Formats: sequence, C-alpha cells, structure tokens
Amino acid sequence: MHCPFCGTQDTKVIDSRLVADGASVRRRRECNHCHERFTTFETAELIMPRVIKSNGSREPFNEDKLRNGLLRALEKRPVSLEAMEQAINHIKSGLRATGEREISSDVIGNLVMENLKQLDKVAYVRFASVYRSFEDIREFGEEIARLND
Ligand SMILES: [Zn+2]
Repeated sequence: MHCPFCGTQDTKVIDSRLVADGASVRRRRECNHCHERFTTFETAELIMPRVIKSNGSREPFNEDKLRNGLLRALEKRPVSLEAMEQAINHIKSGLRATGEREISSDVIGNLVMENLKQLDKVAYVRFASVYRSFEDIREFGEEIARLND
C-alpha cells in the first residue's frame, strides 16, 4: 500500500501480529523511500446483505428481529439458548456466503426454516405457519405429515 507520508508505493511489512483474539491482524510497515513507519489493521468485513421486502422496499438486516422470531417459535421447547445462537450464526454466515448485497426476505425465511427444522420440528412448524403463511390448510397438513416420517 502507499506510504501515507510521501505517497510512494514502495513500503514493506516489518511486523505482523494477530490482535483482538485473532479477529484482526496488526501490521507495522515501513516506507522504503522516506523510512517513516505506520500501522495498518486488517479485519474481515462482515457486512450483512440488505433485505428486500415483498413490497420491494429495502431495509437493513436486523438480527434482533431474527432472534425474536426464533425465540417465539422456540417458546417452551427443549432447545438451549446456545443452540439457538448457533443457529443464528449459521443463518448469518449462510446469508453472507451468498455474496449478495441485497437478499429477498423469502430467501432468509427459507434459510431460517431449514435451520429450525434441524433444531426443533415443532418450532419449525410454528415458524413456517406464521412466516410462510401456508397456502391452504392441506399444504400445512402435508408438511406436518412429512415431519412424522
Ligand atoms: Zn514514505
């Protein structure tokens, strides 16, 4: 990278270490031209895609909203908070892994359902009935029948 003092491109890394529990890298650099030293930090960019709602409007991804939805679905179910937090992390990394900057709320809903299905089947059906609003009662029945297989 360019030297912030003289602008030359000729700089070298003289020290590199992990900081913040390995979440970032701190690098000490020296300019080969003016010999000034400076520090850079490298951190993974964990930006969540924005959410495209069914009416076409966009809003920031809201982790609290996701957590509240899961808590409601998992109410009085034998699932630990830790398992739920793991599911949230899994859902978030799944969304980031798409590499999309904007993602439709349907895609998020389906990802949540996939994760809930593995976590707790009752919670899955609760969530699905609210968020996917099953087309008709027959479809809902079929879904429940599949869970009993
Ligand atoms: Zn320089």
